[in-house]
Amino acid sequence: MKILVLNCGSSSLKYQVFDMDTNEVLAKGLVERIGIEGSNLKHTPSGKDSVKFEQPMENHDVAIKLVMDCLVNPEYGVIKSVDEIGGVGHRVVHGGKYFSDSVVVNEEVKKIIKACFDLAPLHNPANLMGIEACEKIMPGTPQVAVFDTAFHQSMPDKAFMYALPYEYYEKLEVRKYGFHGTSHKYVTQRALAMLGNKEDSKIITCHLGNGSSLAAVKNGKVIDTTMGLTPLEGLVMGTRCGDIDPAIIPYVMNKENLTAQEIDTVMNKKSGILAISGISSDFRDVEDAMNKGNDRARLALDMFRYKVAKYIGEYYIALGGCDAIVFTAGIGENSAAHREAICKYCECLGLKIDAEKNSVRGKEIDFATEDSKIRAFVIPTNEELMIAKDTKDLLDK
Ligand code: ADP
Repeated sequence: MKILVLNCGSSSLKYQVFDMDTNEVLAKGLVERIGIEGSNLKHTPSGKDSVKFEQPMENHDVAIKLVMDCLVNPEYGVIKSVDEIGGVGHRVVHGGKYFSDSVVVNEEVKKIIKACFDLAPLHNPANLMGIEACEKIMPGTPQVAVFDTAFHQSMPDKAFMYALPYEYYEKLEVRKYGFHGTSHKYVTQRALAMLGNKEDSKIITCHLGNGSSLAAVKNGKVIDTTMGLTPLEGLVMGTRCGDIDPAIIPYVMNKENLTAQEIDTVMNKKSGILAISGISSDFRDVEDAMNKGNDRARLALDMFRYKVAKYIGEYYIALGGCDAIVFTAGIGENSAAHREAICKYCECLGLKIDAEKNSVRGKEIDFATEDSKIRAFVIPTNEELMIAKDTKDLLDK
């Protein structure tokens, strides 16, 4: 079976086509500037050169139609007909409290995705647009929604509730949801396999990228995670502040005369590593500056690492121990220096790492020493494959 995976943004879309017999990617691509001047599509069939088109695409319907034309093109296409696609897996950011797993899309599912617009105003409308465009262009092909929040729905109430007036939870659905769920799920499945599918497994997954989050996973189920109602909570990130004293918000709003929208932008786009270093939100730039002696770059990265380590400690308690810590995403997969610094804090828990094994990049490895009490894994994440697998599994049922 061939599965198309779609990740639709408001003016962009990313796609990959998988052959599920081999889990191989047949083609991938990116459409940018949908509905804006300069719409373009870059299509890359595996093992071949990319092709690029620039042509007007006024909406997602037009963009997806063009993607389909590319996929069946005799020269650079990878399928003979659109009918070969057995299903489409859509990344949907917010499933609220309603979805604890991926689902085949029907009218009811679309209604709920719409009901979650307020919780993810930038993402859910675009995700739904992608689903509706596919329904028009490939009627009869099943569509599956895979939610970023779903894997975290197993959290107990003591973990997901905020100690605010209870009516905010009842009326406004204010609670912790968590994000990056598809990535945490993928690396959890890999880590469980690497642990020999041990019973009563306790895993801490660290998705460290531009946006970062940790999850505490017991027996394959999330019991806590660092992101909250929105992706702002938790770790220090590229441009997000993560946890702060909430009273800072009204204090700064008053002093600086900021609206709610303005302070929200500050916390999401102008804080984190970018704000502390004063250099960049990109961890490589900040690491370079630190290595050249820039003290604010050092401070930014110290804050990031310290916070990750503190949450590992918290989740060690929440899980009642830990079998493995997993590092994934841009920083987690590639930066030996960040992994080493974070693991150093965890020596008190019995974690010992092998510096040579830790020097690998972008490859699955256990870099703990043999006598370490906790395993330390690098597992490159693959959210697209996870979406394709969930889609296939649902369609097989
Ligand atoms: P996104 O959240 O946008 O998907 P990624 O998971 O791709 O982010 O992570 C991007 C981050 O990973 C960037 O800040 C980048 O600097 C960082 N990164 C990538 N490679 C390295 C590396 N070798 N060392 C340190 N940081 C790295």
